[in-house]
Amino acid sequence: MSFARTIFGDVPTDVLGVVNCHDHLIRVGAGEVYLDPDHSLADVGKATEEASYFVKAAKAWAASGTVVDMCPANCGRDIRKLVEVNRATPDLHVIAATGFHREHVYLETTSHWVNRYSVNQIADLLIEDIESGIDAHDYSGPLVERTQYRAGVIKFASAYGKITDWEEKTLRAAAIASIKTGCPINTHTTAGTVALEQAERLISLGVPAGRIAIGHVQRNADVWYLSQITRLGCYLELDGTYRIKYLPDSSRVHLVRELGKLGFGQQLLLGTDSGKKSYQKAYGSVNGVDFDPAVFAPRLLAEGFERDYVEDLLMYNAQRFFAFGDPK
Ligand SMILES: [Zn+2]
Repeated sequence: MSFARTIFGDVPTDVLGVVNCHDHLIRVGAGEVYLDPDHSLADVGKATEEASYFVKAAKAWAASGTVVDMCPANCGRDIRKLVEVNRATPDLHVIAATGFHREHVYLETTSHWVNRYSVNQIADLLIEDIESGIDAHDYSGPLVERTQYRAGVIKFASAYGKITDWEEKTLRAAAIASIKTGCPINTHTTAGTVALEQAERLISLGVPAGRIAIGHVQRNADVWYLSQITRLGCYLELDGTYRIKYLPDSSRVHLVRELGKLGFGQQLLLGTDSGKKSYQKAYGSVNGVDFDPAVFAPRLLAEGFERDYVEDLLMYNAQRFFAFGDPK
């Protein structure tokens, strides 16, 4: 039976309901917060409020909703706070991440443990997060204290226009962890760059294409380019909703329409990546984590998209993607 790994356990994939494939409910500190304090999402009450808006919007489409919290290792994860949010939000499933963000957000990385440990040692840490439980201390070290709450997705991230040596090491560890556990990989591209190369590198290391989603690619809204990735069999993850400073939401509608016409509609995933206070309703924004079921999907229907396709985008594609594959 295919299952997805939520923090409260493995579930049949159809109970995930509406899936927000890349978002942030909790981030308690670390490099991103240092770079911009707007990234601090440490308040359980606010996160619970934000999650409740998502579940409410999801219920127009399904019995439940799932938020994939893409905060990776040593990046401000607080699995116990995330559990508190999940406990306080009925009909919500949460999938937590392991893996890595791009080197830049770890600040000065010369002495970072990614540089000190071997690829296999790093992979083992990811595997332990997936199979045993996420470290309560987010691999901020030196003590590791496993919780019972396991990761259900691996993050990999690269810089603008390149994969740094540090990132290449994390990529190899992510690939090993995915192959050994069957866990899907959901990536961060910086402004949509290096998207095809991420897919090609992961596939060349042995990760099945259907277990890879290349993320934030709406920032490079180039249908021909993106179709080179879907042709490999990978998924594309489109988020950055209501980020008008970068692109109008019509650009995302365009991608969904044109990639659908090319036959890649079953390989598209939606998220919002509302990973700052200023992107969340609980902190005063007019849009937030609920954007896809609340605003985007109704808009697609209003623009004449078939309901079946909209439901694939909101639910069924992600339910397929987040299913664990066979470990090797
Ligand atoms: Zn994010």
